[in-house]
Amino acid sequence: MMQMPEKGQDWPAIRKRLSERGAEDAKWRDGKTAVYVFNAGEDVEHVQQAAYTAFMSENGLGPLAFPSLAQMEKEVIAMALGLLHGPDGATGAMTSGGTDSITMAMKTARDFARSKGRVKETANIVLPQSAHLAFDKAAHLMDIEVRRVPLKDDGSFEADPAAMGKALDADTVMMVGSAPNFPHGIIDPIEALAEVARKEDIWLHVDACVGGYFAPFARMNGEPVPPFDFDVPGVQSMSADLHKYGYAAKGASTVLFRSEELYSFMPFDFAGWSGAPMKTPTLAGTRPGGAISSAWAVMNYLGVEGYRGLQGRVCETRRRVEEGVKALGFEIVGTPMLGLVAFRHPELHAFALYGEIYRRGWFTSVTKEPPSLHLMLSPKHADVIEDYLSDLEAACAAVRSGEAGKKKAVEARYS
Ligand SMILES: *Cc1c(COP(=O)(O)O)cnc(C)c1O
Repeated sequence: MMQMPEKGQDWPAIRKRLSERGAEDAKWRDGKTAVYVFNAGEDVEHVQQAAYTAFMSENGLGPLAFPSLAQMEKEVIAMALGLLHGPDGATGAMTSGGTDSITMAMKTARDFARSKGRVKETANIVLPQSAHLAFDKAAHLMDIEVRRVPLKDDGSFEADPAAMGKALDADTVMMVGSAPNFPHGIIDPIEALAEVARKEDIWLHVDACVGGYFAPFARMNGEPVPPFDFDVPGVQSMSADLHKYGYAAKGASTVLFRSEELYSFMPFDFAGWSGAPMKTPTLAGTRPGGAISSAWAVMNYLGVEGYRGLQGRVCETRRRVEEGVKALGFEIVGTPMLGLVAFRHPELHAFALYGEIYRRGWFTSVTKEPPSLHLMLSPKHADVIEDYLSDLEAACAAVRSGEAGKKKAVEARYS
């Protein structure tokens, strides 16, 4: 068992140990990782890092002490709302990540519903089967019931607004659509969901964790992105992660609300303890200044032009993947438009293929329903995608020949 060393070591020795520690990690800088990391190139990484360390010790909990961070957060939220059609009065906050943003949006929606005299029994939320498990985690924390509704059965892999409408009742505090969902990369029909939500007077949350900083630029580039944000009446809140396709350092997301009134149900304001009264907007007490400054810096570094260029490259790469895998006999799951793509083979099992592709040095992921291979593409993948496709061809051959089955199974899961 590791014990704390009696005497400290000097930094050069520790630095050496740190770089040794990374030896077995995924080689994401080579572009062979299509999950967990968003690789926009060395220049962006440099900005992330330098901007993070510039405010690493400062604390977003103290806006009076650090007006710099308060102002940067305000500007990040303003830029977010500008991209996502926030109306006058829309507002929001930075959080530590998508799970945090979703948790806070659910808490806010629940407290809003309570203020309107709804929720006599256990509160519930209604979401498509493809929505992120962060909703279940938050529901578990808050004793909220989760009603997952099957997707449309027309092969679109979209949420089914009519079926979701049937799952609503007087205790429903939130309905959810994704833009896009993680398992298939498909944007749910947000306008149709909003129509149902408005009719029943239910809060609609759009989970744009992985698409919020992608879809607006894809649309500017001419991709046929349907309305999915505050442009759609009835969308009350959104989650959008900066540490995904915003290319910010990790620990940065945004949770956004249509109005100040809705937002006002989020902060926790408390004086009933020995310490000073404290009002915090999100789950965190201490908030890492670096996550704020890094996101702010990357947004300003790239600007609209920079993001358009990067997201255009990702869309181009996704099209090359689609063509390449179709040529190998795969079919694409639904019609993805952004940086995520899932594809399945009519004969070869996805999990066996995943194992083979993993053995060839690729860190990717899988989707369970339906069993398919899953890629979350970064700008860097433009350089290596032909290598991926030839390794996938070899993986198919290995699985076909039965050779793959003889090796130790590689379990595809996040843990
Ligand atoms: C990544 C993701 C989340 C969760 O975000 P974390 O930052 O990993 O907590 C939620 N929803 C979707 C659609 C996502 O892609």
